[in-house]
Amino acid sequence: MNVLTFIHSHIQTFFPMADQIKALNDYLRNAEKILFFTGAGISTNSGIPDYRGPQGVWKTRQPVYFDDFMNSHDARVEYWDFKLESWENYKTVQPNSIHHTIAEIENAGKLLMLVTQNVDGLHVFAGNSREKLVEIHGTDRLVECMACHEFTGPDAHFEFFKKTNEPPVCAKCGGFLKPATISFGQSLRQDDLQKANNAALLCDCVIALGSTLSVQPAASLPRLAAQRNVPYIIINRGATDHDGLPQVRLRLDGDVANFLPAAVKMGLR
Ligand SMILES: [Zn+2]
Repeated sequence: MNVLTFIHSHIQTFFPMADQIKALNDYLRNAEKILFFTGAGISTNSGIPDYRGPQGVWKTRQPVYFDDFMNSHDARVEYWDFKLESWENYKTVQPNSIHHTIAEIENAGKLLMLVTQNVDGLHVFAGNSREKLVEIHGTDRLVECMACHEFTGPDAHFEFFKKTNEPPVCAKCGGFLKPATISFGQSLRQDDLQKANNAALLCDCVIALGSTLSVQPAASLPRLAAQRNVPYIIINRGATDHDGLPQVRLRLDGDVANFLPAAVKMGLR
């Protein structure tokens, strides 16, 4: 790590918080086509658990791999049981100030694309448009047939599972139904990946929020943008895999809610 890189990655050490928010505001004012990349850290304030965090689900449950889901009844039961927890939780969760602020940035005409790793659907509930949203790991808010690929709402399927403990099947074709999230070992959707890639090649600023930037290939998207030398801003509580990259112009450590809403309130023009 050279001296400049070191200073960049430790820039917050030298700036008190008001200066950090002002620096973030400067980038927001100067950008016209922002690519946002969001992760679990922006939804924890809404009561969505961070699976990988210290209290994460993966400390107590084994993830179900896609091949196992397709080949094992027990694995399908386990997956539906795991998703049932999320579904019950979704009855009460609401978007938080971070989601609302990103929607505000879209309303101000500065959003090129919002790529999220989150499957909670909260960006849609906050008012971001579907045209500018890529849910790169899918969504819990829909259920997909693994045979005919029809999407349906999840409620009836979860009610069925809750009653019978049997994984539901497609009413049309009998195929396995699966919450429309991308499982471990399952490929990302090509059209989503294409849309996100295009945005990475067109944006004039890339901002990663609440992600450790460690899950591939998703985390390669902000990096692809950063490699074009557009400003790369990272806000996350704790270390990320992109800390120390020379393209990172601003690295803020802490709850995104402490930075982004205040920076937008200072004005975007
Ligand atoms: Zn079907």
